[in-house]
Amino acid sequence: MKRLVLAALILFLALPMGTIVPTGTAVPMGTAVPVRAEDCAVYYSHPTDTRRIALTFDDGPHYKYTAEILDILDEYGAKATFFVVGELAERYPELILRELSEGHEVGNHTWSHPKMNRLSPDAVTSEIIRTERALNEIADYRPKLFRPPEGSFGKAVTQAASGMDYDIILWTVDTRDWAHTPVNQIVETVLTQTGPGSIILCHDFIGRDSPTPDALREFIPALIEDGYEFVTVSELLGSE
Ligand SMILES: [Zn+2]
Repeated sequence: MKRLVLAALILFLALPMGTIVPTGTAVPMGTAVPVRAEDCAVYYSHPTDTRRIALTFDDGPHYKYTAEILDILDEYGAKATFFVVGELAERYPELILRELSEGHEVGNHTWSHPKMNRLSPDAVTSEIIRTERALNEIADYRPKLFRPPEGSFGKAVTQAASGMDYDIILWTVDTRDWAHTPVNQIVETVLTQTGPGSIILCHDFIGRDSPTPDALREFIPALIEDGYEFVTVSELLGSE
């Protein structure tokens, strides 16, 4: 097992930018190197000389936290990307419309948030397409970005995503807010690990007592003060 981890590490360290990674190869999370899977682009971050970063929220919309997070983003003029679960989008269409009308991006995070590597290729396609249809109906909107639940994916997912013209978006900085990590710890993680082109993972759907809104109120102004600009993932990927 140790040897396998070492081999994966050596492979990762040896990867130049834009390397073709065989689908299913484990790529360490949080890497600052964008990679390409066999059949579809997979981004962990975006190399840029500018201090642009992308804040992302998974698993919503949530009737309470999504609205609160949108208020905070508005207060600081920060743009973000919401990777939404289709069945929740259908339940709270007004929050999807609000996300889009306030200049944020909406990405696809499956219909029902299953573990993707347990699904057949047809089921993977159906999970993605149902959410796409829901967003189309709610807002006449076609997402371009897909984030697999828990960041886990194999060949069926990259093939389905590429067949439907999606890029797969993972993350550079994991706040672990979903595990109810204390606010000060989230803030410290974000402030120490964020750099130009980082993609930060947060959640707008967490059970009771989400630490996310309070953490945002601390790290968003601190990063703005530090010269960072919060843009959507598509804006970040288009940056020089
Ligand atoms: Zn998720």
